[in-house]
Amino acid sequence: MKIAVIGGGPAGMCAAGKAAGMGAEVTLFEKNKLLGMKLGITGKGRCNVTNNCTPDDFIKNMTKNGKFMFSAINSFSSADTIEFFEELGVPLKTERGNRVFPVSDKARDVVLALKKYVLESGAKIVHEKVTALAPAGTEASRIAEVVTERGRYAFDAVIVCTGGLSYPGTGSDGDGLRFAEALGHKVTPPTPSLIGLTSGDKCCAEMQGLALKNVAVTVMDTAKKKKIYEDFGEMLFTHFGVSGPTVLSASAHMRPMESGRYEVHIDLKPALDEEKLDRRILSDFEKYKNKELANALSDLLPASMIKPVIARAGLAETKKANSVTQKERRALLTTLKDFSVKISGTRPIAEAIVTSGGVAVSEISPATMQSKKWENLYFAGEVIDVDAYTGGFNLQIAYSTGMKAAESAVYKLWEEM
Ligand SMILES: Cc1cc2nc3c(=O)[nH]c(=O)nc-3n(C[C@H](O)[C@H](O)[C@H](O)COP(=O)(O)OP(=O)(O)OC[C@H]3O[C@@H](n4cnc5c(N)ncnc54)[C@H](O)[C@@H]3O)c2cc1C
Repeated sequence: MKIAVIGGGPAGMCAAGKAAGMGAEVTLFEKNKLLGMKLGITGKGRCNVTNNCTPDDFIKNMTKNGKFMFSAINSFSSADTIEFFEELGVPLKTERGNRVFPVSDKARDVVLALKKYVLESGAKIVHEKVTALAPAGTEASRIAEVVTERGRYAFDAVIVCTGGLSYPGTGSDGDGLRFAEALGHKVTPPTPSLIGLTSGDKCCAEMQGLALKNVAVTVMDTAKKKKIYEDFGEMLFTHFGVSGPTVLSASAHMRPMESGRYEVHIDLKPALDEEKLDRRILSDFEKYKNKELANALSDLLPASMIKPVIARAGLAETKKANSVTQKERRALLTTLKDFSVKISGTRPIAEAIVTSGGVAVSEISPATMQSKKWENLYFAGEVIDVDAYTGGFNLQIAYSTGMKAAESAVYKLWEEM
């Protein structure tokens, strides 16, 4: 029972450890010198290991092909992940939004635990880049060999866990998608998800570096004339447009991405309704009555936002606070409650937290992760056309599908023996 696992990310390490633990002779191919390079930078180096939620809630947090995950998440759930890592010696803690992190706040501990799982279960790690998967013959329905830069290796089953296309410097540069296509699998075109949004609005560059906390962010789809996303929290203005946690999450809803179709609306003062905000502005204007507007707003807004807000409201920076009319104050108030930014697109996929798209789920059995075209070929992790919101869900996809693929490959080989 010789199984090749291609890719030493979380999906591949789970698959390799699981299959070897079940008695298979497993080789894990990883082209980098280290395993789990992307995993090591997850959660800003803290690794949001999973989300402490039920399988149903997990599926609700998938942005694409959630139903495909039903079997895998029910076999290896978030609760199983938590137990799994604690048994591997990584104590975990749950933070806001059920996000689970290592107590140490070190993603490296998660990488080392998974490596330990691989090695202790008896899998062999080979640091070679896989270049192709070779079928047993022109008429064959089985993969016979894994071809690497250094040689060809015969296997009874192959699990492809090469990840998507984001952060290619970590090794996830689309090889698995190329293998799948070469074997006749349909690949849904990869697009970036959980990604910064670009805007032609010059106010973004003017405010670059400004991080806003406690703002309400709403995304409007102007083509459908409806609100498609609402969130509360942090966002960031950058030289290209907008980013930060709420924006990254919002990006997963903006499909298809079309220039000019979406608008991000920011309520800068969500805790104050219009009446309270008006009273607040009046009291600030009273306090700074002889100052120019640009100075009179210094208590209400961060410095770099004052000029863009005044300009949006159609007022002059030099106007004295005590000469602002009721109508002008109204314009200011409207801008503070709804500062909008038109979106032109996303940053490139290389900068995305996850890749949306990948090997089409219609050609993979959701109960086994087995290819419907090749009887001994399996897929797991981000290489598959599934993705989710931020919050630990994407790593959970990797563990659940990795475990499922390994288990199915071993059961199938047992049956064939
Ligand atoms: C900055 C950042 C932060 C993130 N933070 C989080 C988070 O906190 N929580 C969360 O849930 N998700 C997070 N994610 C998403 C998460 O990291 C991915 O969804 C997850 O790593 C996918 O796992 P994978 O095993 O499928 O693929 P990967 O982790 O991409 O691993 C694929 C592996 O395959 C190897 N490989 C590729 N081609 C070959 C080949 N030809 N031969 C041999 N080896 C090959 C690669 O070198 C790589 O090691 C984050 C992503 C990024 C970029």
